[in-house]
Amino acid sequence: MDVTALAQSVTHGDRRALARAITLVESAREDHRTQARALVAEGAKAGRQALRIGLSGTPGVGKSTFIEAFGCLLTAQGLRVAVLAVDPSSARSGGSILGDKTRMERLSREPLAFIRPSPSQTHLGGVARRTREAVALCEAAGFDVVLIETVGVGQSETMVAEMCDLFLLLLAPAGGDELQGVKRGIMEMADLILVNKADGDLKPAALRTQADYAGALRLLRRRPQDPDGFPKALTVSALELQGLQAAWAEMQVLADWRRAQGHWASRRADQARHWFEEEVRHGLLASLNRDPVKGLMQRLGAEVGQGGRTPDDAAAELLTLLGR
Ligand code: GDP
Repeated sequence: MDVTALAQSVTHGDRRALARAITLVESAREDHRTQARALVAEGAKAGRQALRIGLSGTPGVGKSTFIEAFGCLLTAQGLRVAVLAVDPSSARSGGSILGDKTRMERLSREPLAFIRPSPSQTHLGGVARRTREAVALCEAAGFDVVLIETVGVGQSETMVAEMCDLFLLLLAPAGGDELQGVKRGIMEMADLILVNKADGDLKPAALRTQADYAGALRLLRRRPQDPDGFPKALTVSALELQGLQAAWAEMQVLADWRRAQGHWASRRADQARHWFEEEVRHGLLASLNRDPVKGLMQRLGAEVGQGGRTPDDAAAELLTLLGR
C-alpha cells in the first residue's frame, strides 16, 4: 500500500480514503501497524486540529439522538463533523452498536458529516489506540469537530476524556432526588453535564435534575482549566432540538477560554505524553506474551510453583533479562 498517497487523499478530504485509512489503523497485523504509524505521522504534517468532543452516557439516555441533532446543527453552520465511537464491551447483546448509522440517518446523509461505527474489538488498549489514530486521521482530513461517543462503563470514559478537548456527560431526568449514582470521578471529568429529554412530561424532572447537578458541580474543587461558572449543567431535548445551540455556545466559550489561557495546548501536550507512556507500557506487556520472554516466563513460573525459586528471585531474573 502506498501510505504517502493514501495520506494525501485523506488530507484532501477524500472520505473513502479516510474510511480506508481508519480500517488500516484498526488492523492488529504487524505490517499494517507499521503502515498505520507512517500514515498517522504523514497526516500530522498537515498540522490541523479539530475540536475533539467526548460524549458519554448510559444506553437509552439519548446519545444517538443527541449526536444526530447536534451534528446536524453543526453541519448547518458549515462545520465538518466526524463521529467516532468507543465501545469496549465484548458482549453487545441487547445494546445497540455505538455510532450505528441507521440510528443517525439524517446526519449520515449530510455531506459534511462522517460517521464511523465502533469496530468489534474487545481489548481496551487496542480500542484506545485505534480511536486516537482515527481521531488524528479525521483531524488530518480537515474536520472541524470530532465527536467521540462512548457508553458509561468502566475505563472507557476516562480513556475518551484523555483524548478530548471537551467532555460531555449526557444524563436522563431522574425520578427521585438521588444523583443517579453518577460516580464522582466521572463528574469531575465532565465539562458540561447535559440533562436530556427536557421535554413534555419529563421537563420538570429534567429541570430538577439539572439543578441538583448544578449544585453538586459547585461543590467540586475548581479546576485550573475552567473559567468562572464551569463545569455547568444544562438541560437539552435532543428530540425537540431544545438547548442544543446554547450547549454549543457554552462549548465554544470554554474552548476559546482554554485556547487563550494556554490550557488547550498544555492539555494536548499532557495527553500526547500520556499516550506515549501507555504505548510503551502496552508494548512491554505484549512482549511478555512473545518468545523468548514467554518461554522463560513459563519455565520460571513452573520453578516458582514447585517451590524451587522464590517469586521475587524469579521475577528479578526475568526483569534483568528484559532490561538488557
Ligand atoms: P442511546 O442509547 O444513548 O444512543 O439513546 P437513543 O438516542 O437511542 O435514545 C433512546 C430513547 O430515548 C429513544 O427512544 C429516543 O427517542 C429517546 N430520546 C432521545 N432523546 C430524547 C429527548 O430529548 N426527549 C425524549 N422525550 N426522548 C428522547
